[in-house]
Amino acid sequence: MDFKDFELIYKENRVKIKDRSKIESDLKEIVGVNNVSTKEIDLLAYTKDSTLIGFNWLLEGKIPGLADFITWPETIEQISAILKLANQEKIPVIPFGEGSGVVGGAIPIRGGIIVDMKKFNRIIGINDKDLTVTVESGTNGMNLERFLNAKGYTCGHIPQSLYTSSVGGWIAHRAAGQFSTKYGKIEDMVLGMELILPQGEIIKFKTIARASTGPQFDKLFIGGEGTLGIVTEATLKIWPYPEKRTFISYAFPTFEDSLEATRQILRQQIYPAVIRIYDADETFRHFGHIEKAIDKVMVVFICEGNGRLVDLEELITKETCEKNNGVECGEEPVEHWFETRFKVTDTSSTPTFKMVFDTIEIGFLWDKASDMYHSVVEATKKVKGIVLITAHVSHFYPNGVGFYFTFAGVPPKEKTNLEFYQEVWNTVIKTVEDYGGSFGHHHGVGINRSKWMPVEWGKSFNTLKKIKKVLDPNNILNPGKIYESPWKEGGEN
Ligand SMILES: Cc1cc2nc3c(=O)[nH]c(=O)nc-3n(C[C@H](O)[C@H](O)[C@H](O)COP(=O)(O)OP(=O)(O)OC[C@H]3O[C@@H](n4cnc5c(N)ncnc54)[C@H](O)[C@@H]3O)c2cc1C
Repeated sequence: MDFKDFELIYKENRVKIKDRSKIESDLKEIVGVNNVSTKEIDLLAYTKDSTLIGFNWLLEGKIPGLADFITWPETIEQISAILKLANQEKIPVIPFGEGSGVVGGAIPIRGGIIVDMKKFNRIIGINDKDLTVTVESGTNGMNLERFLNAKGYTCGHIPQSLYTSSVGGWIAHRAAGQFSTKYGKIEDMVLGMELILPQGEIIKFKTIARASTGPQFDKLFIGGEGTLGIVTEATLKIWPYPEKRTFISYAFPTFEDSLEATRQILRQQIYPAVIRIYDADETFRHFGHIEKAIDKVMVVFICEGNGRLVDLEELITKETCEKNNGVECGEEPVEHWFETRFKVTDTSSTPTFKMVFDTIEIGFLWDKASDMYHSVVEATKKVKGIVLITAHVSHFYPNGVGFYFTFAGVPPKEKTNLEFYQEVWNTVIKTVEDYGGSFGHHHGVGINRSKWMPVEWGKSFNTLKKIKKVLDPNNILNPGKIYESPWKEGGEN
């Protein structure tokens, strides 16, 4: 194998390393000879994250980004020293969790040093009275959840990527798990954190239930996407493992009925751990075998926790669904979802049919949620080559919801896969922004959305850029993301 055989997608502004062998030996000095690699096989493994168009590129012999060095540090001092070296030599550093990000956040588009957090995988301990777990940031999500379950707890953060994502990646992308309506999102769970700033300074936010000691500076780093600091340790909230779990499902005649029922449930301060509304197309795709759901909109609920409270939540959830034209479909649809919730074979099979496929999740208030949904579907259907645009709603608040659109299409002859992909992404985001929504609910900004940051943030984006400049004057930590976009208007990249 030779890298000459691959076409590099993101090649602009790549950093030229002057003395490669000197940097390699400096890195070996810092982390040890076995924790640095420049082997092609390792460099190749870190060319991408799980951005779905990456599967198409893989089949076409294209790679999105190419790092110069891969490192696996084992201590915070080593990471600090790597960052100091990188600042001195002006080399990009890209933190890497498990590469399950779907917006290009971990792709080394300017080259440089990958800091893989794999070896930060210790679960330091549980505090039963405080209901916390302290964990190193490279810890795999499923390993953490299994550890907690065995001791009678849950973290409550169960993303679909639980088996393939790390605690640091969750914090960096402000992730949300499928049980988030009860347990909250990652930003609700982080009580304390240790991280290393771009110039190598190690800082620690102490673990506390709540404090009024100035602005919530720690929150700046939740969603920083590895551009403002490298998270090395976090203390998260945990919960006693639920005593009871109830499965409920209803089919509704219209999408609007399903939204109204769930909105009213939240308004009564009932927080089922899981709520998922599937539009008619997705209901057909996932629940086509359920007769009562034919041509309907399926909603699945899981209520869990204290048994007596769960019984009451179940009662109110069912009453509210029935008041809004829901037809009870029993436990089976929820069991089906529960059994298949980590199965994502669709995502890797579509590129073999030369299709471009992806998902786009967005945040919205209740008020115009239904109008926004229909407008996104209508606008996206007009993109030449589109074959499928559907949605489910998977995150719920008394004030709003998180929608999750899925699209697939075959790019027309005059367009590359990336041009088609960008056109769909931009169509969805423009429609959502025009309606006043937020272009991302839990997958982050990365490459795919950075072009839209000035629209999403308005004038405050300039302030965010100033903060980045203060913390990272040499722009070495994960450059080319969030604050700048490698996507040109209508162009290939
Ligand atoms: C099939 C599938 C299902 C998914 N389901 C969900 C879901 O239900 N909910 C959800 O929120 N997301 C989901 N995702 C997206 C993804 O899993 C999350 O974004 C996850 O948080 C990324 O974690 P990671 O460890 O893989 O991070 P990576 O992909 O390795 O990195 C993501 C970003 O975080 C940065 N980073 C990584 N580690 C650190 C660190 N220690 N310090 C600072 N920055 C760091 C990287 O530089 C990059 O910018 C899904 C992805 C896939 C492929």
